[in-house]
Amino acid sequence: PFDVLVVGGGPSGATAAVYAARKGIRTGVVAERFGGQVLDTMAIENFTSVSYTEGPRFAAELESQVRQYDVDIMNTQRGATLSRDEESGMISVGLASGAELRSRTVVISTGARWRSMDVPGEAEYRNKGVTYCPHCDGPLFKGKRVAVIGGGNSGVEAAIDLAGIVSHVTLIEFDSELRADQVLQRKLRSLPNVDVLVSSMTTEVVGDGAKVTGLNHKSRTTDEAHSLELDGVFVQIGLLPNTEWLEGTLELSPRGEIVVDGAGRTSLPGVFAAGDCTTVPFKQIVVAAGSGATAALSAFDHIIRTDVP
Ligand code: FAD
Repeated sequence: PFDVLVVGGGPSGATAAVYAARKGIRTGVVAERFGGQVLDTMAIENFTSVSYTEGPRFAAELESQVRQYDVDIMNTQRGATLSRDEESGMISVGLASGAELRSRTVVISTGARWRSMDVPGEAEYRNKGVTYCPHCDGPLFKGKRVAVIGGGNSGVEAAIDLAGIVSHVTLIEFDSELRADQVLQRKLRSLPNVDVLVSSMTTEVVGDGAKVTGLNHKSRTTDEAHSLELDGVFVQIGLLPNTEWLEGTLELSPRGEIVVDGAGRTSLPGVFAAGDCTTVPFKQIVVAAGSGATAALSAFDHIIRTDVP
């Protein structure tokens, strides 16, 4: 069995693996796609000490650093079940392939995925004007016109944030009213360079083949079609944690995030979690990496405090 089995090979899982392996304990990583979301990222400019890198390169460096240690990397394998034996405290992770792995502790770092609009042009112009991360890509649209799709807290926060950088923001909400907290809505409506459209449905992202040039939308009350000229579309309609496989085994928040405390502990003893799949606020590489270190050190702490099964 492993001492620490990490499920997920993004920035949080890779960091957890490095921290665990450096304790000289048996460490394994199961990953559906080693590298995680950064594989789909173009420029990364906010990971301190690395002024500029690109996602695939960052992912390759994560993997090569993990491989400097004696870590058993099981790539293209998906965790499908999790259980804990009450008596021995041993944790079992069942893989989709049918195999079963046993470990004294588990760090879950399965990340999340952005919900997409599923309209024509969205996939084609991803990273060419269509983006999901205002903290990451906001500065790329300095002085330009953008739309934010979604009027929940993340959409309204994104619009407020972007309004300070870009020349104009149009916020588009599908429902007849915004769902964000009142304090955020008040702030939003006080900004001179923001328009808010409610009961509006985005129908297409338009581009010139190389980048986004506009967006088509339709009123849900009058059915009237409209178009906007702009350079960027920030889609903020939800981040879905990859935790479906854990339902019923440990505590999840109403949004499906694994509930963790400040040390990365979950509701199941010996099971820790880190990164975008958890309730840790702010979904960023540097945050995910930091929480991966925390979870691995907590797992090590758990091991030295429990009897060897
Ligand atoms: P992830 O990166 O999501 O990794 C999850 C890992 O778990 C993957 O290996 C996945 O294959 C695996 N996995 C999932 N389910 C299972 C399962 N059941 N069994 C086994 N493995 C599983 N952040 C920044 O800080 N700066 C940026 O510039 C930036 N740009 C971004 C651009 C894009 C397009 C996107 C999508 C995100 C961007 N982010 C950026 C956010 C950042 O990528 C995430 O916060 C970060 O990757 C989260 O790391 P993680 O390890 O928690 O999860």
